[in-house]
Amino acid sequence: MSLIVIVDDRVTNRNIFSRLAASIDANVSVRAFGDPVEALAWLADNPPDLIITDYKMPNMDGAEFIRSYRGLPGAADIPVIVITVYEERSFRLRALEAGATDFLHSPVDHHEFVTRARNLLKLHYHQKLLASRASTLERELESSERSRARAMRDSSERLANVIDTLPIMIRATSRDGRIMFVNSFLDAVMGSGAATAVDAPVAALLGEERATRCLALDRIVFETAAALQPFEEEIVDVAGAKRIFLTTKSPLRDSSNEITGVLTSSLDITNRKAAEDHLRRLAHHDALTGLPNRTLLVERLTRQIARARRGDHLCALHIVDIDGFKRVNDLLGHAAGDRYLNLVAKKLGGILRSDDTLARLSGDEFAVLQTSVGGAEDAAELARRLLDTVCETSDFEGSPIQATASIGVAVHPTDGVDPEELIKNADLAMYRVKAENGNSFCFYAADMQARARQQAVLDTELRRAIEKQEFVLFYQPQINIADGRIIGAEALLRWRRPGIGIVSPGTFLARAEENGLIVPINEWVLQDACREARSWRNPGQPALRVSVNLSPVQFRKRTIPLLVAKALADSGLEPAALDLELTEGIVMEDLESVAGDLRKLLDLGVHVSIDDFGTGYSSLSYIKRLPLSRLKIDQSFIRGLNSDPNDAAIVRAIITLGHSLDLAVLAEGVETAEQLARLGEEGCDEAQGYYIGKPMPAVEFRKMLNMDLGMAKSA
Ligand code: C2E
Ligand code: MG
Ligand code: MG
Repeated sequence: MSLIVIVDDRVTNRNIFSRLAASIDANVSVRAFGDPVEALAWLADNPPDLIITDYKMPNMDGAEFIRSYRGLPGAADIPVIVITVYEERSFRLRALEAGATDFLHSPVDHHEFVTRARNLLKLHYHQKLLASRASTLERELESSERSRARAMRDSSERLANVIDTLPIMIRATSRDGRIMFVNSFLDAVMGSGAATAVDAPVAALLGEERATRCLALDRIVFETAAALQPFEEEIVDVAGAKRIFLTTKSPLRDSSNEITGVLTSSLDITNRKAAEDHLRRLAHHDALTGLPNRTLLVERLTRQIARARRGDHLCALHIVDIDGFKRVNDLLGHAAGDRYLNLVAKKLGGILRSDDTLARLSGDEFAVLQTSVGGAEDAAELARRLLDTVCETSDFEGSPIQATASIGVAVHPTDGVDPEELIKNADLAMYRVKAENGNSFCFYAADMQARARQQAVLDTELRRAIEKQEFVLFYQPQINIADGRIIGAEALLRWRRPGIGIVSPGTFLARAEENGLIVPINEWVLQDACREARSWRNPGQPALRVSVNLSPVQFRKRTIPLLVAKALADSGLEPAALDLELTEGIVMEDLESVAGDLRKLLDLGVHVSIDDFGTGYSSLSYIKRLPLSRLKIDQSFIRGLNSDPNDAAIVRAIITLGHSLDLAVLAEGVETAEQLARLGEEGCDEAQGYYIGKPMPAVEFRKMLNMDLGMAKSA
């Protein structure tokens, strides 16, 4: 019998979750609490197998609850799932710190709830089984003093047998990274054979790359003397198939309670993951047309908005409502109405780019999320094409129908800063069109023509700026926190715009990305930054590094490795002194081809950092798969470092994560001495920000370097 405890202050949630939990298995019993304090009192006497708790509760939040619970005897290994709202990333990190095992997003997807809960129950069951079998053997061992020697031999053989029959990969590794033990299931999955001999280095079993990661995690177990929370990993088995495992790591102690090794156990969850993915697909798509539904649209909008923060992406939301669809249904019947909607969906989908999303919101209401929008006229052009496309369906299965649409458009960020606001405002605009007899489109904010004119002027001026070489690079120093020495600088683009002065990239980057001018601009940036950094070389001193920001457009063209090789050759800069900054967005656009380009860059010897880290995707699995050197913590988290516990928790989590993957961690946007001191305490490696130095012209940075060098000499 497994016991699941549910803690949620809302009675409806409690009922739904209880029902879902009970549906996992006939052997599951459920106990639900509205008050975390009451739950804690009960849990002190009743050990559960799984806890599912809400995050936001009036008396005590989820993180506090988990922390108090983890303090109870025997509670350390019980899995706890926390339910949070999508945006609450910082709360999730806080819950993770308090000891949460997994998360579910609210509103909760029922299938996901059941599969996750089931996975954790199964893992916990196997862990309990292992522990109880081991302790039975231990009791047997103690029972007879006389037969002790024989029992010892027998039971360790039986224990080994037990461990061998479990369908879990189990291995133990020593402090110096050598294999102490592997079970036969692991042998069978990995086909490892002789490589698993006792005392062989872990790399012989896992390969260099995975072994490095594994040992970094083992080190954390040795240092903290505590088990790591279960994490998912992808492993290629002996037959070459990719499998997903849920892995735990815990300290292994000898009879004197000394930690002698780390026990790693991995449960195969491949099938469940596949089922989960399938169910997730069902939950995110419309049954009639197979298009993304509202939930998925909101998810994609949220991501798109996160990317837009840097000013290199705009996006537009179009709400497309078919005029007079009711008449199609009335005239031709519902079955024909459904076929008509499918036709419209297919036609609309046909004119979109692969990055755009077409969703069906309800009956005859569709939505288009248009990405990489240069300005309002791009959105207007698409709206016009959407209207034309709907018109093409006016001869439907031989019956003439009134095929027109009303379209409302909202552009991020002018017309809304979050998904709900954008949807609401696009809807409002759509109703305005409807009120005027439909068959047209309208923007939420209607100063379109003025916007279009401004954009045309900007395009011409940007072109001229390239010809007249009006771009310059400013340099912002980066220091090593431990000794305060300057280790390099980030090259930041500026435009000496005639009649206006020095202009920051926020005002023109989006446009340059859209009209493609960013490509020649950034080629120049790369060349100029390498040339400048070459001049910083100082005999007897370690080379200073220059960081260059890369654009998504450039990456899509796949010419980065060539450009970088050329810039290095032309300038004579040593490759290790060049650091390229990518964003999570660039990486996620096309993980496979980006990974290929990154490996080429690694072969050249340059470094790659992830910029604005923490603002993008919650999935961190991709960082493990890329050859990176550094994470740059986004400045938004540094701002609240000394005042907001959530920010502090995120910063700490990023530093731990980075170090566990052998990456350096740099904090951006450091503005005060307090922030810098705190970062030092947290073990952050490097820093950059106004407190250390604002972005400055090249000559000034060179002066700063000479002063730094002078101080080092006199010290
Ligand atoms: P980023 O790469 O994250 O650069 C850091 C930005 O934060 C810079 O803004 C910098 O001036 C600012 N900053 C640095 N320290 C502080 C601080 O302590 N407090 C505050 N409030 N801000 C600080 P900037 O120069 O306006 O650049 C904005 C973004 O434009 C950059 O963000 C980068 O994504 C992009 N960018 C800059 N140069 C280039 C370039 O050559 N090519 C491309 N593709 N993008 C560039
Ligand atoms: Mg940057
Ligand atoms: Mg940044």
